[in-house]
Amino acid sequence: MKELFPTSPAPIVHNQFNEVRELFSRYVVPSYGRFEIALSHGAGSYVWDVSGKRYLDLGGGIAVTSLGHANPEITEALIEQSRRLVHVSNLYFQGPQGRLAQQIVRHLAPGKVFFCNSGAEANEGLYKVARKFGHDEGRFEILTAINSFHGRTLGGIAATGQEKVKKGFEPIVPGFRHVPFNDLDAVKAAISPATVAVLIEGIQGEGGITPASVEYLLGLRKLCDEHRLLLLMDAVQCGHFRSGRFQSFQRILEGAPDASAFLPDGISMAKSLGGGFPIGAFWLREPFQDLLGPGSHGTTFGGTPLGCAVANKVFEVIERDGLAGHVRALGDWLKTELNRLGETYPGVVRGGRGLGFMLGLELQPKEAVKAFRDVDRPASMQLCDRLHDAGLLLIPSGTQIVRLLPAFNLSRAQAEEGVSILASVIRSLA
Ligand SMILES: *Cc1c(COP(=O)(O)O)cnc(C)c1O
Repeated sequence: MKELFPTSPAPIVHNQFNEVRELFSRYVVPSYGRFEIALSHGAGSYVWDVSGKRYLDLGGGIAVTSLGHANPEITEALIEQSRRLVHVSNLYFQGPQGRLAQQIVRHLAPGKVFFCNSGAEANEGLYKVARKFGHDEGRFEILTAINSFHGRTLGGIAATGQEKVKKGFEPIVPGFRHVPFNDLDAVKAAISPATVAVLIEGIQGEGGITPASVEYLLGLRKLCDEHRLLLLMDAVQCGHFRSGRFQSFQRILEGAPDASAFLPDGISMAKSLGGGFPIGAFWLREPFQDLLGPGSHGTTFGGTPLGCAVANKVFEVIERDGLAGHVRALGDWLKTELNRLGETYPGVVRGGRGLGFMLGLELQPKEAVKAFRDVDRPASMQLCDRLHDAGLLLIPSGTQIVRLLPAFNLSRAQAEEGVSILASVIRSLA
């Protein structure tokens, strides 16, 4: 691989990386475990590091760069809107935000949208909607799933069903309880007089690429109706066409009897929505869309003309180019290839997981793979290290799974290139 992409002279290469690395060591809060790569620029599904080495990016900035890096149409939308109006307060009306809300509603069902800046913040909005909904009856408790991920705010870590995000930040915000995912009886058993909502991901992302089952989704809807609970879905990672449909539940429920009536009461979004521009949102269905009245919720930067203009462009390009269908077809192909890796190298790979462009490659336990020598580093990270050497970016998900969350306009040739790099690295481990 390396010979194909000649790099700059070694000493300069070295210095550029060290310079950036040093700035981070000195001045950036060390809250992330970062890989030893400093990126410089990108084009489509490729990124280059400061030494000039090229990587095929199938991680998409963790499901964010939905139209690839430095997409000229996004650049144009940014330039055009920034010439007109970058920001106005939410004290005023403006066109781009109204049009983006209309787009989201048009893809779901009658309701309304609130705009914010991130996934965690979109979920915070949903927690507030749930509390408002149950307030007069003293109901406030939200049930979420074990292995879920809902963001890093205080509310987000309380909602997240993983101990590692909570550790050291106690006391945890009250009002959340976790139940096993895809287990309807567990939800049923957990409902208390204080329960007001259930929040799940359609496909768990950080928890290891696990889709909700048809029975779980339909059963939750019924259960929530019976107990007057809000059914809330965190679509921050799995939404916005990533599954091959606008929402993952639409893909999961395809062909299931009685599925057409399924609709959650609220959906949070972010990541792919802005194609790289930070924007989040939540949608509320009728009759809950006016629960948050004037003065009850807000954020300075939420739904700026600039962010909304970009998100409108992302919608436009996805629809114009039929990218949902492309994600679906190429995602199916990729998943077949991931499963094939499992069949060819059963000592290293368990198989593929997921839907559309939200895919995971599940590895065998670290102890079973001799080549994963570092006892302290999870198998998923050790695989990513080796993939980086070979020029491929993927995203670890937990200790056993690496994720593919590529741009929706990834070509078949690029997908094949990715599979070929992955296969050669896996072969070297077998
Ligand atoms: C990434 C993610 C979040 C948090 O989004 P941020 O923009 O990082 O705040 C919440 N929920 C899910 C499912 C996510 O994948």
